[in-house]
Amino acid sequence: MSKQERFTYLNGEILPESEAKIPFRDRGFMLGDAVFDTTRTFGGEIFRLDEHLDRFLNSLKYMRMEPNLSKNEWQDLTMKILELNLPLLDKNDDYWVSQRVSRGDGKNYTVIVESLPLPFEQRAKYYKDGLPTIVPSIRRTPPDSMSPRAKVHNYINLVQAELEVQSRDPDAWPILLDSNGNISEGPGANIFIIKNGVITTPKEQKILAGISRQAAIDLAQELSIELHEEDIDLFDVYTADEAFITSTSFCIVPVSSINGAEIGSTGLPGPITDRLQKAYSGMVGIDFVEQYLSRL
Ligand code: PMP
Repeated sequence: MSKQERFTYLNGEILPESEAKIPFRDRGFMLGDAVFDTTRTFGGEIFRLDEHLDRFLNSLKYMRMEPNLSKNEWQDLTMKILELNLPLLDKNDDYWVSQRVSRGDGKNYTVIVESLPLPFEQRAKYYKDGLPTIVPSIRRTPPDSMSPRAKVHNYINLVQAELEVQSRDPDAWPILLDSNGNISEGPGANIFIIKNGVITTPKEQKILAGISRQAAIDLAQELSIELHEEDIDLFDVYTADEAFITSTSFCIVPVSSINGAEIGSTGLPGPITDRLQKAYSGMVGIDFVEQYLSRL
């Protein structure tokens, strides 16, 4: 084991990552039969762990998994792994921190807590130039097939979207339509549009309700910016003044275009996106835009 190796929790043990091994017949690997959640740190401080664990416990419930760990125990395990791994983090870096449960061999669950440094370098350009988005031909998995509200390991719908979109533009982010042709979400990301000073974002029923999505909704309310959760179609996006994406890692990142059509005309970020980014930075105690831009 190298001295610099991160630790992970696996089935009751804390191990160096290279020693944390899972049998190849694990149902998480064989079938994607697993649940997870991921938060991040800001300057080493964990973000909204309580909300992430609530969502995680709901995903477990949806998947009828009962690994017999209380919310407090998940919290303690998460903080233990983070504490062990924080000294390995470079200055100005931060971690993704995840909990995972698979149905294991069908008798015993596989239980994991792990952390991974965020990809600041790869994504920094989006804070300068905005995020180009493309709508792929495939639709987001409809809730009557598998609920997008649970955070499960089976990401094939979103992986297919990425394959299609990135074959056209390797830098572009997919935004999928739902089965009715309304905007839903992208891999790891919720979308918001702004028109005439009013923010709109899709309703919770056909998406994963992001914790950063909720943070953006709360901040809009604090800033007295009108916000509605309602159906958005492509016309709404093409004609928006601004659009942005929220995710745990991105926080709030401006969208520059959809299907090659530029969004807005004010330069990036647009004025309301800019206000929300600044408020988000204030809330987390770190200028996350600068944290990304400093890597350019
Ligand atoms: N949608 C999907 C499909 C996701 O995987 C994620 C990432 N968890 C999100 C939206 C954004 O959620 P959050 O803000 O909690 O990262």
